[in-house]
Amino acid sequence: MSAATDCDKCKSYELKGQVRALNDLLNVAQASIASLELAPLTQTILRGAMDFMEMPVGRLALYDKRNGRMVLRAHAGLDEDCVVRSVWTVAPGGLTDRLLRRNEVYYVEDREASQIPEEHLIAHEQSRSLVAVPLVSQSSIHGMLCLDDVIPRTFDKNRISQILVLASFAAISIENAKFHEETHQLAINDSLTGLNNRRYFDKVLPQEYERAHREGLPFSLMMIDVDNFKLFNDTHGHHLGDRILATIGRVLRKTLRSIDFAFRYGGEEFVVILPETDLESAHKVAERIRQRVMAESRKLLRNPQDRPVTVSVGISCYPRDAACSITLLAMADQLLYQAKRTGRNRVLVAEDDAA
Ligand code: GH3
Ligand code: MG
Ligand code: MG
Repeated sequence: MSAATDCDKCKSYELKGQVRALNDLLNVAQASIASLELAPLTQTILRGAMDFMEMPVGRLALYDKRNGRMVLRAHAGLDEDCVVRSVWTVAPGGLTDRLLRRNEVYYVEDREASQIPEEHLIAHEQSRSLVAVPLVSQSSIHGMLCLDDVIPRTFDKNRISQILVLASFAAISIENAKFHEETHQLAINDSLTGLNNRRYFDKVLPQEYERAHREGLPFSLMMIDVDNFKLFNDTHGHHLGDRILATIGRVLRKTLRSIDFAFRYGGEEFVVILPETDLESAHKVAERIRQRVMAESRKLLRNPQDRPVTVSVGISCYPRDAACSITLLAMADQLLYQAKRTGRNRVLVAEDDAA
């Protein structure tokens, strides 16, 4: 009688453990599905997996199949100097390669009893135990998770098998987030120049204005238009015209800082937003752009005697020239128009007394 009761207690204990594990699993799955942005999502997955296995250290790396590389996207419980490399190549036949191919969990309960292969993702010097799991969805391999501890561990085998379920939820969420990122990129991108499109400009300008207003910082706006571009197309052909526009896109990307925004505003018109930039600095940047467009376009022309492509630029600056974003845009446009009327191939800013 008492043996049967003990056994019942045992079963009930085991059952409770399983229910708890399933609940934990569900919580991670729900948190992952709710997130569409890759950076917070990878953190959520990693934290969830670490809690699920009660492991103090973890890393999550995504696989880039175009170049066969792993890229570290999230880590926790690690000192910064333990994160030696954030990108590495998957060695054929190595543990990462095997994990990615087989879609199974790899775990070591005590490193002293079984050798941990020397591979980047799991080469944490002090780790005694580890769990590595691939992130694989039906259609492709997304990466892997590696959790470790500095002490030997005896893992709950239910959790070891269930972490694959967690990993497959995670992989689907990562796939969704990647898709979301790509679609967002397509929606805001102009394919010929690689710059942002006008629709995105309509969104960013009020945001940047609000930010500058709130923080009491200046920002500058540039309108750029290619000079006599109709004539250029008529002389050299539309195809070379397209290459010129792509070159201008490249010049803008190279010349601007990462916090600046460049947009293709229309056919041969561009707009640039320079946060935290006064008129004087914006003027210098515009001059650099003007010169570089001329130099780069020269390289595309067959005949050295051909006139290089030039641009005209109008610049306005908040709060110097206008107190609202619409007036600021109108002002830059007006200055651009004046630059055209006064001979093209120049940068114009408002005179002090006009402000
Ligand atoms: P201005 O100096 O006054 O700006 O003269 P413009 O000839 O550049 O101005 P206009 O507005 O008369 O002509 C713009 C030209 O830009 C006409 C159009 O064919 C060309 N264009 C617009 N979009 C594209 C494009 O995507 N590719 C090419 N190749 N040309 C384009
Ligand atoms: Mg134009
Ligand atoms: Mg033009």
